[in-house]
Amino acid sequence: MNFKKLFFALMMFVFLLGCNQQSSTNQPVNQTVNTDTLFQVSTLQALMQGYYYPVSTVGELKENGNFGIGCFEAVNGELIMVDGVVYQAIHDSSILVPDNNAAIPYATVTFFNSDINVDFENISSIDELKEQLNKIVNENGNNVFYFVRIDGSFDTLHYRSEYAQKEPYKPLAKAMETDQTFFNKENETGTIVGLYCPDFMDKLNSSGWHFHFIREDKQSGGHLLNLSSKKITVQLDKKTTFKMILPEEEKFQQFQLAKDMSKDIHEVETNTKYSEPSKKETNYFPAIDRYLTNSIGSKYAKGEHCVPIHSIVRVDERDAEDIKVWGDFWVFNYNLVGDTLECVSGGSHPGLLHIRQTENGFEVTAFDQVEDGSRYLPTAKKIFGDKFNAFKIINSDEKNRERLRAEGLATYVKNNGIAATKYKDYGWPEKQIPLN
Ligand SMILES: [Zn+2]
Repeated sequence: MNFKKLFFALMMFVFLLGCNQQSSTNQPVNQTVNTDTLFQVSTLQALMQGYYYPVSTVGELKENGNFGIGCFEAVNGELIMVDGVVYQAIHDSSILVPDNNAAIPYATVTFFNSDINVDFENISSIDELKEQLNKIVNENGNNVFYFVRIDGSFDTLHYRSEYAQKEPYKPLAKAMETDQTFFNKENETGTIVGLYCPDFMDKLNSSGWHFHFIREDKQSGGHLLNLSSKKITVQLDKKTTFKMILPEEEKFQQFQLAKDMSKDIHEVETNTKYSEPSKKETNYFPAIDRYLTNSIGSKYAKGEHCVPIHSIVRVDERDAEDIKVWGDFWVFNYNLVGDTLECVSGGSHPGLLHIRQTENGFEVTAFDQVEDGSRYLPTAKKIFGDKFNAFKIINSDEKNRERLRAEGLATYVKNNGIAATKYKDYGWPEKQIPLN
């Protein structure tokens, strides 16, 4: 080894030491990543035209940022990245944490470092929020990018997610006419992840603001359409470097990406055309499913999919403020392994659900649950009262429960575009999901 080579080897050693030190902090290991970079996967225009195919992965997003927004393959939910974790808000607003292999057709992420910190008070709408943010952008230069992180408690929130699409994919505006779901929430605490793009970005993204929301307990979220809050904490991160990756696939080359999609983008992002929820809930079963998934299923060992089932004993719908549903409620969490949904956890929760009719649908307000062990019989008798015998019959009807479970899985798999044909309990043979 000559001196020159030794010197080079020493320099490499020092360089690698440096890398090692960096990897122990939250900073990117890859030296080519500039933390002032906005990393974009594909273009919003391609997504609008129906390019919902894999372009990147959750793992690659994590190499290029710890904060951002986007969506998932087949537009199966909204992507929210906060503090380095990628969350997936699916059609019912519940949150999954996809693994690093999950495919991404479109996203924008960055390593978030706040440059500007400010509090806003008494924000009454999303337009007012944008107005306040635009003041800051105009003072600091409106021809660059800004990521924004907003934390706080919100008096009202209006957000949406959507059902996964099936091939052949329709353009996004068309898909959203029927397949988005809306959520009106009150008194939620959480984080808004937002991005501002300058005007000249309207061929690659959209100009102006785009926000996603995730609740503090990471159980609910979506694409934000409106909000109000007495006080929010706002952090802005100015970005001056832009990096974009595009798919190499032949089918991507077929898209006419110079086509003006701005009207469709505006409609999909702000929901002006569909300002009244197109899917007003007409019954309370989605509300029951949301409750069982978010409040019960999440307490069990986590799976990729939570699918509740219910055997209803009796309902009393006379009071819209307190609809009562007595039943045997089950929650199962599954992981998809090949084409089989393998059950990882779950359990039975008989009791009485109290449901309130809201402007756009229904929400569960309380759940009187039958307790375990020696408390089982007395609490079951108390909660079910004169319906106790009917409950006992349903509760012991294993066959009916299995039928309801299989049907529930069939609906879930269809609605979410999941490639599963069987399900399986630990130690038991797999069973067919009745798809058709
Ligand atoms: Zn969005």
